[in-house]
Amino acid sequence: MVTKIIKIDPDNPDKEALKEACEILKSGGLVAFPTETVYGLGGDAKNRYASEKIYAAKGRPSDNPLIVHIHDFSELEEIAANVPDSARKLADRFWPGPLTMILPKNNVIPLETTGGLDTVAVRMPSHPVARALLTLSNVMVAAPSANTSGRPSPTLAEHVEEDLSGKIDCIIDGGPVNIGLESTIVDLSSPVPTILRPGYINKAMLEEVLGEVNIDPGILDSNANKNIRPKAPGMRYRHYAPKGDLTVVEGDESVVIKKINDLVEKDKKDGKKTGVIATVETKDMYHCDNVLVAGDRNDEYTIAHNLYDVLRKFDELGTEKMYSESFETPKIGMAIMNRLLKAAGHRVIHAEDNKSVLRLQDFRRVIFAAGNGICRAPMAAGILIKLLPENSPVEVLSRGLVVPFPEPLNQKSEAVMASNGISFEGFESRELLNEEITDKTIVITMDEKQRKFILDKYPSANENNTRVLAQMAGEELETMDPYGGSLAKYGLCFEAMKTSLQKVLSSGEE
Ligand code: AMP
Ligand code: MG
Repeated sequence: MVTKIIKIDPDNPDKEALKEACEILKSGGLVAFPTETVYGLGGDAKNRYASEKIYAAKGRPSDNPLIVHIHDFSELEEIAANVPDSARKLADRFWPGPLTMILPKNNVIPLETTGGLDTVAVRMPSHPVARALLTLSNVMVAAPSANTSGRPSPTLAEHVEEDLSGKIDCIIDGGPVNIGLESTIVDLSSPVPTILRPGYINKAMLEEVLGEVNIDPGILDSNANKNIRPKAPGMRYRHYAPKGDLTVVEGDESVVIKKINDLVEKDKKDGKKTGVIATVETKDMYHCDNVLVAGDRNDEYTIAHNLYDVLRKFDELGTEKMYSESFETPKIGMAIMNRLLKAAGHRVIHAEDNKSVLRLQDFRRVIFAAGNGICRAPMAAGILIKLLPENSPVEVLSRGLVVPFPEPLNQKSEAVMASNGISFEGFESRELLNEEITDKTIVITMDEKQRKFILDKYPSANENNTRVLAQMAGEELETMDPYGGSLAKYGLCFEAMKTSLQKVLSSGEE
């Protein structure tokens, strides 16, 4: 198939030029078009064959529903089983615009379009080209982002061409999109409106109209707790994945820059091609092969606008190791970080300022928390008790994160401890309790996943009082998990934790 490209002035779309695209839509074909969020790949939402073609062109799993684009509110009434007041209020305030609402559906839209769900996602885009196409064709257009499934969403017509040329009938080139990240999705079919995907329209803006709004816990950190599944099927897939390894580095600007440069130096020694996602403020401070500027911290929307293009550029450059600053900006930060963390497969490093190292000795209680609490946590506790002076007022505990019933020590852990003169007679594992994290407590985990798990689950845990052992010790690698390994492996793990704890204790000394 030859894909026809129609160039169009985004501010003043020429109706004549759009006629052909309208005909394609009416006859069940596919047209990619610009919207204010990203480019969409459109087909007639009422025509199940058109929807099937969309899935095929994108290589998209067929259980991942499409968003139906409309140009008039009456179309929402035509396809929703009922239209609650909340939908009317949101439409009054934000439509046309980058907001998608989920409502119960009737039979007008086929299940092929909604990925088999009995709800339908609806949006009224504001981009003049999208509006002209929808109005002139009078077709309700089912459109996901116009990228190959798994690649960053397209923010330029060239991105669509890269992915879909030869697979679809037509691309309307209206230049760069405005926002650069997909629409906010809010589920109005649940008792409390719930954000399923963060976007330009943020929680505060929705709350101004609706009062209480929830955020689907699955979108905040899908890796931290595998039991929480995001409600929008699309958010379950690893989208936006660049070809190389991307890691997000969080922390204060100066420590982040130093940390990234250290990591890049190591990668270079390994012969890797390196890249950094930076801002105009920091771009000259990195020593990697390619620094790409996402935007300007003084104008957070520029970062959203360029993010996907930057990710695609790294693919073109063949970058193998990429690092990104973190962009927890006030308004669109949640949407940026949601996409960036997905692209990074949730690989995050917290850059710590070594000068402000914690003094373990200053805490009243140190809790080692890991897994089921019978292996690394008690070993670490045993080591620390030995390292601290005998009359130390610090209470050292070990806890598990998932302890359905109390268990004795892991036998190999017990053996390794015994050979180092440590014994925990009558030990039984216990699950970490929120009340145990009091004022002068520090919780130490073995890895970042456990730390995130605790931050999510325990209200008393925070970024300051919950830390990862290796990071506290300034080490790159997280503590190894010897579980299922030989006695020697447990021995190695013991020694590694001892070294880490010695470093932590000595770094806290003046
Ligand atoms: P895309 O068009 O590529 O931005 O993908 C559309 C997004 O909307 C995906 O994440 C879908 O899972 C989500 N979505 C569409 N319809 C529904 C629905 N009925 N319920 C929940 N999520 C939906
Ligand atoms: Mg998409």
